[in-house]
Amino acid sequence: MYDVLRARYTFACPAREQASVPLSAFRKIERLPGAAHPAVYRVRFACACGGEHDGLLSHDDLDWAPLGVGESGEFFNLMTARTQPLEEELVDVAARLIAAGTWPWVLFCYPEGRPRPAFPSFFRLMAPKTGQGRVGVALECASCGRLSVNLVSQEHVDVPFHHDAEVGVVEQLFAEDAWQTQEQFRSELWSAEFDARRLTLAA
Ligand SMILES: [Zn+2]
Ligand SMILES: [Zn+2]
Repeated sequence: MYDVLRARYTFACPAREQASVPLSAFRKIERLPGAAHPAVYRVRFACACGGEHDGLLSHDDLDWAPLGVGESGEFFNLMTARTQPLEEELVDVAARLIAAGTWPWVLFCYPEGRPRPAFPSFFRLMAPKTGQGRVGVALECASCGRLSVNLVSQEHVDVPFHHDAEVGVVEQLFAEDAWQTQEQFRSELWSAEFDARRLTLAA
């Protein structure tokens, strides 16, 4: 479930019954094998109770609910201020909205050396860089399928269409199985050097 007005996902919490967290509180996002229509994702998130829990989200809830998508398979296109049917091919939608000049999430693909449009379902691991209000994101590029690690503001992740002018990028190629655990990712994030890259999509 997603609360559009508060920009938060709602899950069950064993300690407080309900947890309401922003995308930047997610720690791990995994697509579950099997379910395809719709795809289902298991999300590990940092809860306000101090613990971490797992929750399930449909693909629509994960990617489209933050943009105001209803349950009818339609979405409210912020560019045209019209409700439109939900497309199956995300890349098609991406191409069209980018042509219109914007995209809700943009991250930097290190292997391709350029900013690329992104969706929460392409985020793999996230960890906060405590004290800086910034979040490390390991993402799979929607265009080339390879992994990059970006360091961004919480708003960059939590608020669709809010983009940092530049993000931190780890100058390293990562194998698909680069991190076995969240802890590995977190410790690598702390020791990593980040290079600033601008996030302008237009060439
Ligand atoms: Zn909790
Ligand atoms: Zn790429």
